[in-house]
Amino acid sequence: MKKMIALATMAAMVVSMTACGSKAETATTEAPATEAATETAATEAEAATEAPAANGTLVMATNAEFPPYEYREGDKIVGIDADIAQAIADELGMELQIEDMAFDSIIAAVQSGKADFGAAGMTVTEDRLQAVNFTDTYTQASQVIIVKEGSTVATPDDLKGKRVGVQLGTTGDIYAEDIEDVTLDRYNKGFEAVQALLQDKLDAVIIDSEPAKVFVDENEGLKILDESFTDEEYAICMAKDNTDLLDKVNTALASLKESGKLDEIKAKYISAE
Ligand code: GLN
Repeated sequence: MKKMIALATMAAMVVSMTACGSKAETATTEAPATEAATETAATEAEAATEAPAANGTLVMATNAEFPPYEYREGDKIVGIDADIAQAIADELGMELQIEDMAFDSIIAAVQSGKADFGAAGMTVTEDRLQAVNFTDTYTQASQVIIVKEGSTVATPDDLKGKRVGVQLGTTGDIYAEDIEDVTLDRYNKGFEAVQALLQDKLDAVIIDSEPAKVFVDENEGLKILDESFTDEEYAICMAKDNTDLLDKVNTALASLKESGKLDEIKAKYISAE
């Protein structure tokens, strides 16, 4: 399993290295695209009378840069969220279509009806609950701190005044803003932040625990601090007015929990410690 993720991450690295010259470039080229996407999405929403789910296909919005939850294996997007979404679609007798996009475009895609739901290791937060509904949660997670071996950063308190890498628009990004005198470098992909840490451009990276384990396993000289930065829960998000689908997906999720299928999917991608 590890090898599969390693290959996928290496492929992602090649793509990200060729696609974006530098972090600064990535941030400036992709940020306006997000605004444009929001505008287009809003126009589409006005035009659309029916959600995509109405024709028997469930459209899932995700960001396939987040192993083991979603990542690319060749042309395919695989991972825990992809498998859970497929199992939900099966329960509902529907087809699943996965749309890959920037993490911070997912909520706009769901709000506009461009996607039926977002499944992207997405943490339930009060702010996001203003914009979308969340299903029942399906995973406990946390934001952890990755440092280089030998780092003087040993606990979250040591991040004061440090240069920290985060993934744009994630809870790591949002909560790291509260660290005193911190300098935050925001990356479109968590993997890019880890690369910058390896190149000594950062003192630490704050990212979700499972992707952190994948990145640390694949790169020599990194470790995850024992004390996590935050504890969180993941759920699937949906448009506020799509309560019918919310009920259906919650029922499907309950049945996957009950049957053991949910644990089976997690075990397929996360090896027991
Ligand atoms: N759990 C984090 C969040 O919801 C990161 C998710 C991700 O990067 N896919 O913000």
